[in-house]
Amino acid sequence: MRLLLVEDDDLLGHATSQVLSRSGFQVDWMRTCGDARAAVRSAEYDAILLDLGLPDIPGEQFVRELRSARSVTPVIVITARGQLDDRVRLLDMGADDYLVKPFDISEMLARLRAVRRRMMAGGDLTDVQTVGPLQLHQASRSVQWDGKHVALTAKEFDVLQTLVMRRPRVVSRAQLVDALYGWDDEIESNSIEVYIHFLRRKLCKEVIVTVRGRGYQIGNEEALNAHVRNAKPGPA
Ligand code: CA
Repeated sequence: MRLLLVEDDDLLGHATSQVLSRSGFQVDWMRTCGDARAAVRSAEYDAILLDLGLPDIPGEQFVRELRSARSVTPVIVITARGQLDDRVRLLDMGADDYLVKPFDISEMLARLRAVRRRMMAGGDLTDVQTVGPLQLHQASRSVQWDGKHVALTAKEFDVLQTLVMRRPRVVSRAQLVDALYGWDDEIESNSIEVYIHFLRRKLCKEVIVTVRGRGYQIGNEEALNAHVRNAKPGPA
């Protein structure tokens, strides 16, 4: 998970970015809104941690700019006590959550985990996602292929869900690892490849496309429909 930390306080910025890196996040630390603006133009972030009291322009203005540019990147604002008196103002400005200084590191990590869960869920957990013959039921965490239930392990489901929810984007191996594992989990070096191997075997080879040098992508609807058609016995 790649984070943008915007904090002008050297001590706090340094401590926060260190803790985040140690917790497995990829962190870019900017000290001004100007630098943060440039950063969001050149990279895609999974979440932004934003101090409201910045030297150049107020953090509020930066959030409004992001939202008017139709950015959906979750923003967690960091405020001094008393700086932000009500939640309504926070939501009005387009932020997703907030932390009041001085905050606990464990609280910050919990907020980030919540952001990640919302991202993974793609908003609506009761949702059924359909890609040709593939149906992914998020609430029951079950999968049907051509109308038949297919038993997947939890991790296989997570891989498939991540690819389905981010379609048609290519998801890198690192992003999959990020989506699948907690920060303290031990990861076998080839585990993602193993899950993908089993998903292809249980569903079909075309269900996950390897994009050389970039990662994986869910197979396109026509290719999956064609696979199902071809697998059915034709007229004698
Ligand atoms: Ca500040």
